Amino acid sequence: MSATGEQTQSKKRSRAEEEVVELVSKLIQFDTSNTGELATTKGEKACAEWVAEKLHEVGYETEYVESGAPGRGNVFARLRGADPERGALMIHGHLDVVPAEAADWSVHPFSGAIQDGYVWGRGAIDMKDMVGMALALARQFKAEGTVPPRDLVFAFLADEENGGKWGSQWLVEHRPDLFDGITEAVGEVGGFSLTVPRPDGTEKRLYLVETAEKGLGWMRLRAKARAGHGSFLHDDNAVTILAEAVARLGRHTFPVVLSDSVAEFLAAVTEETGLQFDPESPDIEGQLAKLGTISRIIGATLRDTANPTMLQAGYKANVIPQTAEAVVDCRVVPGRQAAFEREVDELIGPDVEREWITKLDSYETTFDGHLVDAMNDAVLANDPNGRTVPYMLSGGTDAKAFARLGIRCFGFAPLQLPPDLDFTALFHGVDERVPVASLEFGTRVLEHFLLNS
Ligand SMILES: [Zn+2]
Repeated sequence: MSATGEQTQSKKRSRAEEEVVELVSKLIQFDTSNTGELATTKGEKACAEWVAEKLHEVGYETEYVESGAPGRGNVFARLRGADPERGALMIHGHLDVVPAEAADWSVHPFSGAIQDGYVWGRGAIDMKDMVGMALALARQFKAEGTVPPRDLVFAFLADEENGGKWGSQWLVEHRPDLFDGITEAVGEVGGFSLTVPRPDGTEKRLYLVETAEKGLGWMRLRAKARAGHGSFLHDDNAVTILAEAVARLGRHTFPVVLSDSVAEFLAAVTEETGLQFDPESPDIEGQLAKLGTISRIIGATLRDTANPTMLQAGYKANVIPQTAEAVVDCRVVPGRQAAFEREVDELIGPDVEREWITKLDSYETTFDGHLVDAMNDAVLANDPNGRTVPYMLSGGTDAKAFARLGIRCFGFAPLQLPPDLDFTALFHGVDERVPVASLEFGTRVLEHFLLNS
């Protein structure tokens, strides 16, 4: 450990560092499983009320808002900053989690167990870790009378795991007033460290700041043809037409289109490691695999993808149905939407129609400016061997909704991770857990960041 690290260790622990682990554990104990159905998604209200209570305890006024349906609880709190002329910075986290099958886990997924140096449970890294860090710092700042440079808005949200339909998207559409004056925001998925080898045998920790997200589109394909008896000659079969279109789409490889975020990420990795990446190479995925498990995400950001996920047709073995349907999960690189749709139309052909069931636009911002400097300074102050780099997330977050209001969004939920931890596998995975030391580190980084934002 470096000298600076020892100094950080010996420094008196902050109030937020002292309580962050306990807060994260407690948050995990609320079963906020989001099933995607209103009738069965129940836990957010109790969790949101508890968060509001923890904020009241230290003197905040909070606003509790249900986003379009009973129980879909969101909590907002504002801490006044020194300069009211500056736009506010929002720190947001979602309270819901994806469901967990307890039988598959080493510990109960809603135990919040603190053992072996980890906090265990569903949500430990997605994203009750960040919620706990933000809550701990909100409490510390208020309790100690800290005045940040600008207004900070703490937002705890429902329904992210269902695309924010009953959460951020609803709030942006129906309660845009909640976001008045907010110009920038930080949330998931970024700020975590990726340890890479350097040519001289040492290691470097890259902290991946999310500056872009692919667009998300769930597309329904429908073929309509002639119904008929299964024993007859029949050359106009909806199932056949649809199946051919689905197969063409599913086997298609879209062109590599490097967005700025991905290009900057690859350049930074090359600079640190000497590894070369050639986006034109047919083996670009193989080259990325040298980065380890993060290549699952990075590899998916080089090009659009269209993966067929659902098929539906027919009701009896000897009846040729009139229609056949499929659903395709489409993820589109920023700037590619129109080109992507043209390519899809060519592949599915004129006999298959398509419609969007869900369509959330891609997002990209630049990796520069005061807020990025503040992230970089905060990381370096706590890890002199760190370097922040931009990257694109292949999935989506609540940032997509806030970007619609013109808010500049970043994924920055800082965690210093052990080099051998398969972080990406923990998202929605079994035995989701977060290192205690990572939470304490993240809290220190986030404190430095917020006080210099
Ligand atoms: Zn999440």
